[in-house]
Amino acid sequence: MGIIWNGKRLFDNKKPYKTLLISCFMVEEKDCIFCKIVNGEIPSEKTYEDDNFIAFLDINPKAEGHTVIVSKKHFRNLLDMPTTLGNEMLDAVKNVALDLIKNGNAEGFNLVVNNEPAAGQIVFHAHCHILPRKKDDGLKMLV
Ligand code: AMP
Ligand code: ZN
Repeated sequence: MGIIWNGKRLFDNKKPYKTLLISCFMVEEKDCIFCKIVNGEIPSEKTYEDDNFIAFLDINPKAEGHTVIVSKKHFRNLLDMPTTLGNEMLDAVKNVALDLIKNGNAEGFNLVVNNEPAAGQIVFHAHCHILPRKKDDGLKMLV
């Protein structure tokens, strides 16, 4: 048993073959809470959707309207997300932020991306936070 690609035998035993197939086609990671939200298995207060991202209200908001923007495909964080998708994430950020501003829910916003536990990442599915800001709202940021 093996896999032939471009005329070459890549793997001769079953295990690596299965691993390759799983990693190529897996878009949902088992037990990933954001994958479950993307798939509608867990409810969320969705505020935005495009081809590659959804946005919903954070369950533990640090500011009124605190929103997380989540890739529809599973990536651990920004480090393993393709750069082109990162560009699209910025488009989603702008769309969500402009909506918040147009609707009078923000005058500005902070964009926060936590990558890896040392930086405070607790959900290991690529996402970013939009923290709506108003003048003198008292919210303290790191930088
Ligand atoms: P972090 O991984 O630190 O960037 O943050 C993950 C964020 O996801 C936290 O702010 C959580 O409050 C938020 N979160 C976790 N579970 C849910 C959920 N079911 N619905 C909405 N937000 C969630
Ligand atoms: Zn996931």
